[in-house]
Amino acid sequence: MLLKKQIQDCVIIGSGPAGYSAAIYAARADMNPILFTGFQPGGQLTTTTSVDNYLGFPEGINGNDLMNNCKKQAGRFNTKIINESVNHVILSNKKGGIHRIFFSMKKKYLESRGIIIATGSSPKFLGIHKEKKFMGLGISFCATCDGFFHKEKDVAVIGGGDTALEEANYLAKICRKVYLIIRKNYFKASKILQYRISKKSNISILFYSNVTEIIGDNFLEGIKVFNQKTKTSKTILISGLFIAIGHVPNTEILKKELDLDKRGYVVVQKGKTITSKPGVFAAGDVQDPNYRQAITSAGTGCMAALDLEKYLSLYVE
Ligand code: FAD
Repeated sequence: MLLKKQIQDCVIIGSGPAGYSAAIYAARADMNPILFTGFQPGGQLTTTTSVDNYLGFPEGINGNDLMNNCKKQAGRFNTKIINESVNHVILSNKKGGIHRIFFSMKKKYLESRGIIIATGSSPKFLGIHKEKKFMGLGISFCATCDGFFHKEKDVAVIGGGDTALEEANYLAKICRKVYLIIRKNYFKASKILQYRISKKSNISILFYSNVTEIIGDNFLEGIKVFNQKTKTSKTILISGLFIAIGHVPNTEILKKELDLDKRGYVVVQKGKTITSKPGVFAAGDVQDPNYRQAITSAGTGCMAALDLEKYLSLYVE
């Protein structure tokens, strides 16, 4: 079994901005991190074209290029990268205790005193044709990230919860027109957000509506919307479609081992990355239902490595 007898200081689960940032800080602090890439090496940014809001790239950068750079930077400081998913963990309750991290379909495991969970989250999809193909080509899951590309154009947001209304509100300040498409005839979002939306003259709300088709050959050009009440369909020409029907944190392997909130996000101490188990820290989207940005993920990745370094100095000889 790989490295069975050697006890590690730092195992990082996940290869998005949080994981690589944690790896760079951990490696430079001599924690010899081992990083598992998981099912999506490079994380969510590898599914988008241009990242325009990450600090330090005045012309923007392609999502894959950014994550390849992160990998190279982590490699420069000798992070050991394992191209596998973690299938199971057994987390110790003791300070300075040893955790087990299983992979290769639970046939192998590593032992470590420190773990940084950076498994991210996955946006929920509608499940219609061309939805994945046009990600970064008109289809987005983040108005703060991609709204700017649709300045003074027409866009649509799907969803009726807080996130959808916040996205619509944000886009209404930049775009010419925002269609807000909701399956039901009411919002789940808070009353204050509903009030804000009602004051925006360029938001058009379509209740009882479903997107049934994505139109365009090489990029998004429009959508077909079906109204369940009138049983009619109409075509709406838009340059951007923002899907805001929720995110699922990737915490399946942690369910029985760590405190999670009711949506499944890892619970961390306020302003820290400390979880409910000693020596286990969480960074990035997996512990953040609010901001969900590459830069905040990288920031909390750095925090997790520093929190782990402090923990090891206190509890491990
Ligand atoms: P993720 O990037 O989600 O990475 C999670 C990692 O964990 C992956 O490598 C995955 O393989 C791994 N993993 C999961 N489970 C396991 C397991 N069991 N074992 C091992 N590994 C595992 N943000 C911006 O700031 N600007 C943008 O322009 C922007 N555009 C976006 C466009 C799209 C289409 C999407 C979907 C998101 C975008 N975001 C953007 C949001 C940004 O991508 C996320 O906030 C950020 O990637 C979160 O980083 P993370 O490291 O927490 O997790």
